[in-house]
Amino acid sequence: MGKAFAGKVALVTGSTSGIGMGIARAFAAEGADVMLNGLGEAQAIEAVRAGVERDFGVKALFHGADMTKPAQIEELVRTAESKLGAVDILVNNAGIQHVAPVDEFPPERWDAILAINLSSAFHATRAALPGMKRRGWGRVINVASIHGLVASPYKSAYVAAKHGVVGLTKTVALEVAEQGITVNAICPGYVWTSIVEKQLDDQIRVHGLPKEKVISDVMLAPQPTKKFITIEEVAGVALYLASAAAGQVNGTAIAIDGGWTAR
Ligand code: NAD
Repeated sequence: MGKAFAGKVALVTGSTSGIGMGIARAFAAEGADVMLNGLGEAQAIEAVRAGVERDFGVKALFHGADMTKPAQIEELVRTAESKLGAVDILVNNAGIQHVAPVDEFPPERWDAILAINLSSAFHATRAALPGMKRRGWGRVINVASIHGLVASPYKSAYVAAKHGVVGLTKTVALEVAEQGITVNAICPGYVWTSIVEKQLDDQIRVHGLPKEKVISDVMLAPQPTKKFITIEEVAGVALYLASAAAGQVNGTAIAIDGGWTAR
């Protein structure tokens, strides 16, 4: 049987680690050529890129666009179009976190989170949509968060940005609905990746709890399964949203949260 996304090109922002890398590899496993992006050491990034080509026999390129820089985001999309032929599937995934009470929240962290977690999705979508419209097919998948649907304390910028991503998702979905393009958001609960590992110290400080308690009482308590969501579980939903079966799934925000938002 043919692979589901053979002949398609997927661009995944923030795919040098974590969820983005998992999503890029999942699309490559289904035959898509991929454009990778993100921060990291050149050697480690090259290992990720070459690994995708070796493991799945597709083309994989890397572009180091900084998601705080609109002109670089535009160049990322144009490079995928010129070197891989198109951006059929755009996954807006790059993201960062900062955990602090709002009155102690560093303004430059607020600006960076809004730029990377929200505005970059606008800039990439804006650049990729004309090509999708010309081809009459496209998928925009925004990796929001459960914090796009509900809040937690000490995450003002992240929660605001992710709620913004859900709003952007709905708006663009309505604009392109008649053109074979769908736009959806994925809203995972806690997935054990570097973004979670890096916030542990801040969570320990703001909650006044030891590490094990932060994991059990702050991160896993709201997740009824009491388990971290896996990268594969998130990637599976991304594959579904890009599939033909999801052709009428548009403008939604799909929770992958073990039941967190069912309460
Ligand atoms: P991660 O830290 O492993 O991945 C973040 C990616 O974004 C990395 O590739 C990083 O290099 C890239 N990035 C950061 N700043 C960038 C910049 N300025 N320019 C370009 N790339 C940049 O963490 P992750 O958990 O895989 O996060 C991926 C997405 O999933 C984020 O949007 C995050 O908010 C979201 N998310 C994560 C969780 C979780 O619990 N891990 C839950 C819900 C949503």
